[in-house]
Amino acid sequence: MRTIQMVDLQTQYQRIQSEVESAFAEIIRTGAFINGPAVKTFQQNLAAYLDCKYVVACGNGTDALQIALMALELQPGDEVITSPFTFVATAEVIKLLGLVPVFVDVEADSFNINPQLIEAAITPKTRCIIPVHMFGRASNMQAIMDIAGRHQLFVVEDNAQAIGATYVVDGVERKTGTIGDIGCTSFYPSKNLGAFGDGGAINTSSEELYHKIFRICNHGSEKKYYYETVGVNSRLDSLQAVLLDIKLKHLTGYIKSRNKLADYYDIALAGAGDLILPARPETGHHVFHQYTLRTPSRDALQQFLNEQEIPTMVYYPVPLHVQKPYLDGRHAEGMLPVSEKLCREVLSLPMHTEMETEQAAYIIKQVINFYKS
Ligand SMILES: *Cc1c(COP(=O)(O)O)cnc(C)c1O
Repeated sequence: MRTIQMVDLQTQYQRIQSEVESAFAEIIRTGAFINGPAVKTFQQNLAAYLDCKYVVACGNGTDALQIALMALELQPGDEVITSPFTFVATAEVIKLLGLVPVFVDVEADSFNINPQLIEAAITPKTRCIIPVHMFGRASNMQAIMDIAGRHQLFVVEDNAQAIGATYVVDGVERKTGTIGDIGCTSFYPSKNLGAFGDGGAINTSSEELYHKIFRICNHGSEKKYYYETVGVNSRLDSLQAVLLDIKLKHLTGYIKSRNKLADYYDIALAGAGDLILPARPETGHHVFHQYTLRTPSRDALQQFLNEQEIPTMVYYPVPLHVQKPYLDGRHAEGMLPVSEKLCREVLSLPMHTEMETEQAAYIIKQVINFYKS
């Protein structure tokens, strides 16, 4: 049995190695490292995959979120509602732009922002909601879009963990990231569509927003050396684009492998000890970026599995509303109890596209052993 890893990028690469190597050789031969045709091709193919009009590739998922908020022209002091149970980037860009993050607690079973608590957090300064599709499971986008519509708020989806996931809104099944005004994703190597380095993308179906996003990514310019706004330098390079374009063709298969492993974990771990297994979304499809358990004995289980050479991760140990840079007098410990409890109880098991049955069976056996001992 191979050593178990949280993600196995080496084995995944072996399956596409020859195709990737010849595509890389071609880019190196032509020298079109930046803004080459490979980036345009990938943007078009990703837009087709997502079923949205425009994709602008950028430097990473954090930039994608920042550029999205810049394109909405929010003003300092404007409030943005988001989840405290997420990777820091979601809140970091809000703060960086002088906006005010307003954290709303999550639902325990979906790990996502609780729509029933959103309206109570809306004030005259609220301009935007950023739902985060945590661990590959869509937020309740029907409820969020209804609230945004009633209060005329923008919706920027943090789709960094959920590319390919779907949710049914107004009777139509749609890909996450394409339901709100703007979707943002990350191609960090361990994400479901991972580059060999940093990368990200912003998608929208609004032509006006597309032009703003494109300009901001390119120093505020659409015509070289003529500037309309202050922008940033954030782009995907051609080597990453050509790799991502190859992997995009396999994404549906990758998602199937993840779901197969999740199904196996679900069946084999049902009823084990005090474990709560991840719940499927009420509509649409989960893409299992992570397979995340909940248990009050989290720390002991993690230590036990570690001793059996099974890696696990705690995403995330501390919610953002009690972290130093985000303590602003609005939120204090105890105010968002579900997020705080999740941080004490979550444990993510190894989840990737290359898991062998023998490895999965070993993980399951050891989790069950923990509850027997
Ligand atoms: C990974 C991630 C990001 C940031 O993406 P980077 O490419 O690492 O900048 C943002 N939000 C969430 C929820 C993420 O998981």
